Amino acid sequence: MIPFNKPYLSGKELTYIKQAVESGKISGDGHFTKLCHTYFEQKYGFKKALLTTSCTDALEMAALLLNIQPGDEVIAPSYTFVSTVNAFVLRGAKIVFCDSQAGHPNMDAGKIRTLITKKTKAIVPVHYAGMACDMDEIMSVANEHGIFVVEDAAQAIDSYYKGKPLGSIGHLAAFSFHETKNIISGEGGLLAINDDKFIERAEIIREKGTNRSKFFRGEVDKYGWVDIGSSFLPSEIIAAFLYAQLESLDRIQEKRISLWNLYNKNLALIENKGFVKLPHVPDYATNNAHMFYIVCNNLNERTGLINHLKANDMLAVFHYLSLHKSPYQEKMYGKNDIELINSDTFTDCLVRLPLYYELTPEEVNLICKTVEQYYH
Ligand SMILES: *Cc1c(COP(=O)(O)O)cnc(C)c1O
Repeated sequence: MIPFNKPYLSGKELTYIKQAVESGKISGDGHFTKLCHTYFEQKYGFKKALLTTSCTDALEMAALLLNIQPGDEVIAPSYTFVSTVNAFVLRGAKIVFCDSQAGHPNMDAGKIRTLITKKTKAIVPVHYAGMACDMDEIMSVANEHGIFVVEDAAQAIDSYYKGKPLGSIGHLAAFSFHETKNIISGEGGLLAINDDKFIERAEIIREKGTNRSKFFRGEVDKYGWVDIGSSFLPSEIIAAFLYAQLESLDRIQEKRISLWNLYNKNLALIENKGFVKLPHVPDYATNNAHMFYIVCNNLNERTGLINHLKANDMLAVFHYLSLHKSPYQEKMYGKNDIELINSDTFTDCLVRLPLYYELTPEEVNLICKTVEQYYH
């Protein structure tokens, strides 16, 4: 069976974990956490990088930093993972769902303006499959209205918009190192802060509402309770694992991109015959090869394709279910009458093919042959 995903070990993970354990300091913000922070700040130009235990946690920190209150509205795509919106719902926000683009799962930036009200506090663009949303458009709408932008960059490590690293453009951004992402630590995440005014409070919120980070830097002589907060920082064991992955980032990315390009080249044949649509990389975006997906014509066709692949020992999987039609949304706000047809189309028609470091070009060729077979 060719699995859909297989977590990749770069080779140094256990060595670094052993070092962390033997150092006698295995709680957070030690040697390996600092190495990771420096890596992200230097490579991607984030003003401040803070490791968290998940992308979900980084998003929850963002909601706390923006002081999201009951009654506030947050604009987010409907075609996304629940954490994108849950983090804000936890603070009492109402989510205003934005449709995807007709040809891309990313939110349609041109529609955001019509969704803004006096209550809008934030926009949360999700870079689906690691491909950039139209950030110039999103930032200019946000700046016009004094609204904050939180990039859900969970899938977007090492990906760029007009030459700028994703996660460095919004006021805040959240990354994931869950084992299904390009760079992993089992569970893990990162809050990137690009607006100085959030840095001091972010450190406090992350450390249970205390100014312990300042204390460790010797900036205050004792630390205490100064704000609300929680425990958002990972242990050194996780940071050690992550640092091993970061050292191999270029190699991991090169391999994933070559596999992605092979899929794209092989399947162009059936796209040209009009059977499926392949991922579109906008001019302003790079492709970090987080995911290779195809878009079928309808739900039945997709179900048939997934079953055909499974019968041939290959695991392909569909993805999100439009959140504006979710059971929770319906329970809270009643059956909604908004129509987000593009989000619904991707809900029914998008299927993701296996993509992981150890996948071989031969396996990609085999998967593509099997897809072609289904369309003959
Ligand atoms: C993976 C993912 C998340 C959640 O990441 P965790 O680290 O598991 O919390 C959030 N948003 C998107 C778009 C994701 O792909």
